[in-house]
Amino acid sequence: MKILHTVSELRGWSRAARQEGKLVGLVPTMGALHAGHASLIRAAAERCDAVAVTIFVNPTQFGPNEDYARYPRTFEADCALAEAEGADVVFAPAVEEIYPEGATTFVEVEGLSDRLDGQSRPGHFRGVATVVTKLFVAAEADLAFFGQKDAAQVAVLRRMVRDLRLGTEIVVCPIVREADGLALSSRNVYLNAEQRRQALALSRAIGAVESLVGHGRRDREELFEAARAVLGAERGLRVDYIALVDWATLQPVETAAPGTLFAVAAWVGETRLIDNAILA
Ligand code: AMP
Repeated sequence: MKILHTVSELRGWSRAARQEGKLVGLVPTMGALHAGHASLIRAAAERCDAVAVTIFVNPTQFGPNEDYARYPRTFEADCALAEAEGADVVFAPAVEEIYPEGATTFVEVEGLSDRLDGQSRPGHFRGVATVVTKLFVAAEADLAFFGQKDAAQVAVLRRMVRDLRLGTEIVVCPIVREADGLALSSRNVYLNAEQRRQALALSRAIGAVESLVGHGRRDREELFEAARAVLGAERGLRVDYIALVDWATLQPVETAAPGTLFAVAAWVGETRLIDNAILA
């Protein structure tokens, strides 16, 4: 597996692969890879002939008081995992490679980027849309793999790809969880044992809502009440949002339909966690 650092190296690799008739897959990550990322790389290796994993902690998607500086960085282990799961190259650019000095160009997905996580984290989705555009332009991939874990991000990126008529198709992979239900996240390393236990309330809340929907209960307030009861029972956990929205528009809906997104975000200590389900 090769490690590439510049956009022109990545583009050269991708063009050479396509010239050989290969289908090129891209897996954008911020590193600190875990089994959730591994599932994306595996999915890419299954569907594509040439796979690039990008490892880039993107400064523009972090707010001024967020964890950019202390975000976990585990490059060696990441490369080993990427290779084991079938990556052909890792693209690990320096910040100046992605944001040349004085860069003032950004991508704004209006109407979506200020919803859910975008409401709690102003500017977050502008940073995400901008870096993903840059990665798509650099990699010229056929397919790009993202996790449903970041469901609002998927909505923003799908709209962006459609609006800009980008040539890369987005593939969404299911949420990978620990045996006890906790959704895997690079930020889980911030949790101490007690906080990790508290964090289980997120997946329990999701489960409670899915179970209600399974019994035909689809009313927004009833679903929210169930989620609030589970989350509220966990002292030390602070709800950021509970949302029932159309997955494409991120607009609130009154009644859950098949494909509706139910999402929660909560603070456990200094750590903000998210989880969701696409309802049946
Ligand atoms: P990140 O490194 O956190 O930016 O995540 C990179 C990609 O991995 C995103 O598309 C995430 O949605 C995806 N991802 C993160 N956690 C999980 C998970 N538990 N299951 C599936 N995909 C995930």
